[in-house]
Parts: sequence; C-alpha cells; structure tokens
Amino acid sequence: MTVKLYDTYTRQLRTFQPINPPDVGLYCCGPTVYDYAHIGNLRTYLFEDVLRRVLTFHGYRVRHVVNITDVGHLVSDADLGEDKMEKGARRTGRTAWEIAELYTQAFQSDMIKLNIQEPQVWCKATDHIPEQIADIKAIEAKGFTYSTSDGIYFDTSKLKSYGRLARLDVKGLRGGARIEIGEKRNPTDFALWKFSPKNQTREMEWESPWGVGFPGWHIECSAMSAKYLGALFDIHCGGKDHIPIHHSNEIAQSEVCYDTRLANYWMHGYFLEVEKSKMSKSSGEFLRMQTLLDQEYDPLAYRYLCLTAHYRSDLKFTWESLDGCGRALDRLRAAFTGLDAPSDVSEEYIEKFTTVVSNDLNTPQALALVWELIRSSSISPGVKKATLLKFDEVLGLGLIDWSPEAEFLSENLEKLLRERELARQEKRWADADSIRNEIESMGYTVEDTPLGPKTKRS
Ligand code: AMP
Ligand code: ZN
Repeated sequence: MTVKLYDTYTRQLRTFQPINPPDVGLYCCGPTVYDYAHIGNLRTYLFEDVLRRVLTFHGYRVRHVVNITDVGHLVSDADLGEDKMEKGARRTGRTAWEIAELYTQAFQSDMIKLNIQEPQVWCKATDHIPEQIADIKAIEAKGFTYSTSDGIYFDTSKLKSYGRLARLDVKGLRGGARIEIGEKRNPTDFALWKFSPKNQTREMEWESPWGVGFPGWHIECSAMSAKYLGALFDIHCGGKDHIPIHHSNEIAQSEVCYDTRLANYWMHGYFLEVEKSKMSKSSGEFLRMQTLLDQEYDPLAYRYLCLTAHYRSDLKFTWESLDGCGRALDRLRAAFTGLDAPSDVSEEYIEKFTTVVSNDLNTPQALALVWELIRSSSISPGVKKATLLKFDEVLGLGLIDWSPEAEFLSENLEKLLRERELARQEKRWADADSIRNEIESMGYTVEDTPLGPKTKRS
C-alpha cells in the first residue's frame, strides 16, 4: 500500500516516493526558544510525529531533523524590530543564552510528555554560524544579494520562481508597495545577515565578511537541512503560517545556493485556535503544557484531542473537548487493560487502519476504527489487544506503558511534588523535608532544576 500526502507546493494529494528508499529525510522547523511553547505549537509537532510514525509503520527509515531557533528571529517578519531572544532575555532578567537553554529543555520535556518521538538530530542555529555564513557567501557570489545600512538582503526580484509555494502575487505586492519597506528594494526581500546596532554590543553576535552581526532567521534552516539531510531531501514540514514567508524564503535561499529544489514534499499543519483567534506566543496569553498539568490533565488527553481533527483543519480548543478526550482515553485504557494477552493481529483491521492513516494521515478515521474494533463482537480479546498495540505504533497513546498502578504512582508523585513546592514557598522547611522523605521511600529522588522539581527513579 502506498502513502498519499498532501503537498502544499503542488496543492495536491501525491503518492509518496522517497529519493533513496527506504530512507526518508524529514525536516521540521522547530521552536523559537524565547518563551515556552504553547499547546498550539505542540499541535504542529504532534502532526509531524504522526507523519513520522506512519512512514515508519510503512517500513521507511526516517531521519527526523528539528532545528532550535535561538538567534535571529526578529519581532517583525519584515526584518524589523528586536531579536525575540534578546527581548525574552530582557523580560526574564536572564541572558539570551540562558533562556535559550531553559526553553529548549522545557520544549524537549513537553515533547516527551506528549510521547513525541525524539528527532535523530536537534540542531541549534547558534551552533551553525559558519555554515550559514558559507551559504550567504554562495548566494552573494551568484549576485542575489545587496547591502543596506542594517544588513545583507536577498533580492527576491532576481529569482523568477520566488513565492511559488505560497502562490504569492509578487507583482501585486511590488505595485502596491505602500508598505513601509525602508531601504529594501522589494517588499518580499529579506535579511540574510543583520549588523549589530552601532554603539551597542548584542549578547549574541559573530564576526562575518560583512561585519559583526547575526544571521537572519531563514538561513539557518537552509544551512542545517542541507548539512543533515542533503541539499534536496524528502519532506519539509511546519505550521501553515510558515508558507508565505519563512518557507518561501528558505526555498529561495536553497535554490540559489545549491541549484536544486529544497524538498520534494511540503506539508503544513493547521492551527489550534482559542475562541476564534489562533493561539500565539507574541500576543502574550497562551496555554502551555504546564497549564494543563496544573489542572491535572494527562498530556496524552491533549494528544488524543489533536488526533480527533485532521491536521489540515483548524482545531478549536475548549476545556470541554479536552475533558471529553480525557474520558475517551480513560475508557480506551480500561478497555485495553481488560483484554487478554495479545495474540495475532486482525489483518482486516490492520488493512483498514493502514488505508486511513496512509490517506494523508486521517487520524479521526483511525480513532473511529479503534472504537469499532473494541466494540466488535466477532474478534477475540487477544486479537483485539494485538491489533490495538499495532495501531498505537501510529497513534502514540502509550497504551503499552500504561497501567492503573503506574498512573496511581505518577499521580501520587505529582501530588507530593506540588505539596513540597507549596511548603517550600511558605518556608515550612520541616514539612518540605518530610515530603521529600516520603517521595524517597517510594523509590524516587527529587532534583530541583531551573524548570522546577523533577523526580527520578533512585
Ligand atoms: P515558533 O516557535 O513560533 O517558531 O513556532 C513553532 C511551530 O508552531 C511552527 O511550526 C509554527 O508554524 C507553529 N504554530 C504557531 N502557532 C500555532 C498554532 N496556533 N497552532 C498550531 N501551530 C502553530
Ligand atoms: Zn525553518
């Protein structure tokens, strides 16, 4: 059976054909680590995780690369304003390097809680400055750059195919250039390298052939995807907001720099919305994983919620829907644990399941099949269990790891940790110590980290 994926570049459902089967190169634009990820961001990483799992289910060997944007993403997409990292540092009273570390760890810990498989490669923009400078030099040598008083820019008018991914009306944009474009030649031009402000030392800055400064946001993805997956690779993903700017610019840079297309398939996750508006970090208010944990939700209930919607439709978040998914997950776990030891899988159900998930990752239909299988009267409990385990390789609801005892233990640990935190805040040191002893008697140690206390099996 083949996998069909919706490719944003051609606006078509296409049969997936890797460049070097069974290997598949998958690049997913990662977080800008100036703040915690919100659960909308996490929806995008969940969609990418399902994609990876479906490909693995089909026997492909996926090499999954995720970048960490820890420099260069400016507050405005027009390459104006402050670097989000330096702004985040000011907000928190820490250095840009410290917040990068803190929010990267927080993000990775959210991924683990959501049972998102760890990428084979995490790559940070600040660890790849020489690679980015080399790419900018190559683009410059081909005559696609110009300089202004604040940086080196990509001249999009020189690339005929610019904006194809987004079907951008480049001429229209140019004609109606009432938008403030400063010294840029065209509204769609973007920075490859920004100079540090005069008379001011930035926390993050590097020497370059053009002067001290830092890379523009888009070049890191062109440089790092080429380094870890090759100049042309299979699938490039991100949220749909990346289509008109970030991904259009990545394509322009890579096509000029490497004389090839960037990726064969472009896939984009739609948004999680809260009361009609998309959730966003910059608007200040957002829900994050910790918000759900504080309210005692199981992170996998959020994973279940995301599976109920197709990745190419926006999903409205409500607490009621999360409650409903939490209950559905409880019922699924209870049904699963109540089944006999796994025997053979049901070929019929595996085929149905493979058909729906291979049809552009239709997870709502996959969940419907889960319940159809559980309710079926003609399939034996052992076969049901084996088949559900196979389904869960794609759904990632962690059925195999779950047991009532493990849940009881983790709920108790969470409760004790919260009580200990409260005792510490109220300076009731004796209480805090006795709670620590209780946790240790359960076979765990407590470690206080910048992200809060963590337990480890001792
Ligand atoms: P950022 O950390 O802002 O660069 O975003 C990380 C990822 O989350 C990107 O792929 C974005 O496209 C995606 N994203 C941003 N907002 C949302 C949202 N409300 N729902 C789903 N994905 C989002
Ligand atoms: Zn990117």
